[in-house]
Amino acid sequence: MLEKDIQEILFTEEQLKNRVGEIARQIESDYAGKEVMFIGILRGSFVFMADLCRAVELPCTLDFMSVSSYGSGTTSSGQIQIIKDLSEDITGRHVIVVEDILDSGNTLHYLLNILEHRHPASVRLCALLERRVKPVELHYSGFTIPDAFVVGYGLDYSEKYRNLPYIGILKPQVYGA
Ligand code: 5GP
Ligand code: MG
Repeated sequence: MLEKDIQEILFTEEQLKNRVGEIARQIESDYAGKEVMFIGILRGSFVFMADLCRAVELPCTLDFMSVSSYGSGTTSSGQIQIIKDLSEDITGRHVIVVEDILDSGNTLHYLLNILEHRHPASVRLCALLERRVKPVELHYSGFTIPDAFVVGYGLDYSEKYRNLPYIGILKPQVYGA
């Protein structure tokens, strides 16, 4: 079982559902009368994206992007590379970027820059979790979390644990700490 590797549950399925609902109501009121385009950043955001888009009662379209960030160990630049680009044109669209977690903020900072060059009508950032300092403004943020490695609800460690229905702190011994 995956549960044996979890030190502590931070957010239960129910807490996640409630918070996703609150974010959805905010989005509905901010974008009333408009059509939204959700852009999910693969792969961590896929569960949050699926729940969020179903909770938002507005016409919307979806697309996905995959990016790789060079970790702090390899370079200090924080540059990201697009692994899979969008399939759709975002010109004139009201884009909401959906991310699992804002950590250093590098990923969303660079992504925002790339997307703004494509002339959307607007771009906002939405992350389920955030921690640390932010070089970018998050318009929609689910929870602020402590400095511990979390998994579940789409977030992985070594590609596993994404299917846990809750968000939990991984036991440090799992990653050899
Ligand atoms: P940033 O560019 O904001 O530093 O990096 C954000 C990315 O780092 C997230 O999309 C996620 O892939 C990864 N990340 C950062 N912290 C965690 C964490 O606690 N757990 C997991 N599973 N991924 C994390
Ligand atoms: Mg990610």
